[in-house]
Amino acid sequence: MALTEISTLGEFGLIKHLTEEFPLKNPESVKGVGDDAAVLDFSHDPDTRVLVTTDVLLEGIHFDLVYTPMKHLGYKAAMVNFSDIYAMNGMPKQITVTIGVSKRISVESLDALYDGIRLACERHQVDLVGGDTTSSVTGLTISITCIGTAAKDKIVYRSGAKVNDLICVSGDLGAAYMGLQLLEREKTVFLQTKDGVQPDFAGKEYILERQLKPEARRDIIERLGQAGIVPTAMMDISDGLSSELLHICEQSKVGCRVYEEKIPIDFQTASMAETFNMNLSTCALNGGEDYELLFTVPLALHEQVNQIKGIKVIGYITDESEGTALVTRDGAELTLKAQGWNPLKNPVE
Ligand code: ADP
Ligand code: MG
Repeated sequence: MALTEISTLGEFGLIKHLTEEFPLKNPESVKGVGDDAAVLDFSHDPDTRVLVTTDVLLEGIHFDLVYTPMKHLGYKAAMVNFSDIYAMNGMPKQITVTIGVSKRISVESLDALYDGIRLACERHQVDLVGGDTTSSVTGLTISITCIGTAAKDKIVYRSGAKVNDLICVSGDLGAAYMGLQLLEREKTVFLQTKDGVQPDFAGKEYILERQLKPEARRDIIERLGQAGIVPTAMMDISDGLSSELLHICEQSKVGCRVYEEKIPIDFQTASMAETFNMNLSTCALNGGEDYELLFTVPLALHEQVNQIKGIKVIGYITDESEGTALVTRDGAELTLKAQGWNPLKNPVE
């Protein structure tokens, strides 16, 4: 099938083509694509606050088109923004999408990118209300800005953790990082073999999906809300558990104790780490892009959080003077570092 060059549609034709199948879902979205600016209305509730976050993804830095399907890329670009809104205990409502495209990108691949964005928006009840389109000579760029809302007395910052609070994480960690290692290895093999042998990914679907198609944890925010729990501090895990925990401790002016044996890790992550001869805990602590939620709750809520599916307590908050420590399986205490810890070699450079 011949691919369509962007030039056949022109800039305005392309924008119309890409955005026409995004009907507005939220009453707060008054005017979407098509004028000089979108019009939003959040005035119906004086106790609502508006949240804004933005993320940019650059080809060659954040993604590799050799193994990243465009649809997944669109989905992920939207999802990482939703994740930031959830991490404030908010709900995403609108996005704007800015793309920088080179000549080698076809209309069909942009369609696939927007299919991914559309799927993410449908699943998370978000409206596409605008963006910008420009040409690029340095590969594909996607920047998404997300607007969300939160009840003003339920916004959760990184700075609210208190001594004795429990440290909780959703899902499991390290899988996206192991998925990336696998994709990178297969890419190398693929480029070295002339006949282009297709990789066998059987039994590794989960870690690949975690890397290529992460899912922002709206479900966890909803479950916490239903249980009437407002975390004291929260953030999403994009750079690795260690690094994020250090942010919470620094901003909350507290210390922490995290138990290595309690860090949730999936079986596929563990078996891939073994294949690559990597330290599993290092991968789970420092591998990025999990997009799980890391949060703290008062100790009194122990029973309640334990009953919520998909949440695990991994440690507790201490006084700042006690430092930030990882308690290993054999009971030793190591200082948490943003990138691996001594004497283990850190795989994330
Ligand atoms: P302006 O010249 O005012 O920047 P544009 O011609 O760039 O306007 O955009 C026209 C409309 O299309 C605006 O509503 C803008 O937000 C929207 N838009 C432009 N590019 C994109 C895109 N890549 N994705 C979604 N909406 C877009
Ligand atoms: Mg413009």
